[in-house]
Amino acid sequence: MKSELLLRPQPLFHEKIWGGERMRSAYGYDIPSAHTGECWAISAHKNGDCPMLGEYRGETLGSLWKTRRGLFGGLEGENFPLLIKIIDAKEDLSVQVHPDDAYAAAHENGSLGKTECWYILDCDPGATIIIGHNCATRDELREKVEQGRWSELLREVPVKKGDFFQIDPGCVHAIKGGTMILETQQSSDVTYRFYDYGRLENGRPRPLHIEQSLAVATVPFVPRAPERESRRDGDALITRLVKCSYYSVYHVELGGRASLEWDEPFVNMSVISGEGEIDGLKVRAGTHLVVPAGYGALDLSGNMELICSHV
Ligand code: ZN
Repeated sequence: MKSELLLRPQPLFHEKIWGGERMRSAYGYDIPSAHTGECWAISAHKNGDCPMLGEYRGETLGSLWKTRRGLFGGLEGENFPLLIKIIDAKEDLSVQVHPDDAYAAAHENGSLGKTECWYILDCDPGATIIIGHNCATRDELREKVEQGRWSELLREVPVKKGDFFQIDPGCVHAIKGGTMILETQQSSDVTYRFYDYGRLENGRPRPLHIEQSLAVATVPFVPRAPERESRRDGDALITRLVKCSYYSVYHVELGGRASLEWDEPFVNMSVISGEGEIDGLKVRAGTHLVVPAGYGALDLSGNMELICSHV
């Protein structure tokens, strides 16, 4: 069967103080606890390198990247470039900001910066996120931070299922409680914690990185205009959510049959709702696949939504 050529990473779970158990009910995952915050669904990062199912059992996504680069169109680079996560925030995550590649290279031992984006999978009524801040100058930002006027300076916006946000380096951001997202990001971990709501972990505040945050925060913050662009292909509605220097991300809504063909080194696919088949392989909400280079057209059937991405 052609679908045996699809790469099938097995999700890894990370427990977090702010995590919940929504991933069990939504995706049927065997999560480790009621504080499961992150599912690393497609990852070759050293802190969570997905074991492979199917044809490549015994390998990890990272080992395939090292030894079978042809699966990824011979792309260059030491590390698999993207990381796909599902994040279940039962409580608020700390407010953070990421550096860009240049700042990270200079100040974080040559690490990459981090650009990420969020697709809202589900959220409670009234849920919000933090994206950006309300200060006009860096001096004003520093002054409000020093005075602890966080609720005034942080830009909090309401969210609903299906919303999408691109978080460029320098964008102050936080996922707030009651929200589950699918995150597509550069495979990097350099995060500066700007504010943690005065919370304690094991009786102590978690470390903050105020100076680095003030140095890399974009001032003033300018919200990105949405750039949704849709086309129909068979019974699929394909919407490009973003195209940036690191990735393009698409939402695919299928109600029947469609044939999809990507001319890309590889494509990440995550089924986020419903169920169906991809070239005869049964898939359902919570299935993640990587389409290798040269796979050709994919025959999709069923009623489902997917998030797809490529470099
Ligand atoms: Zn982030």
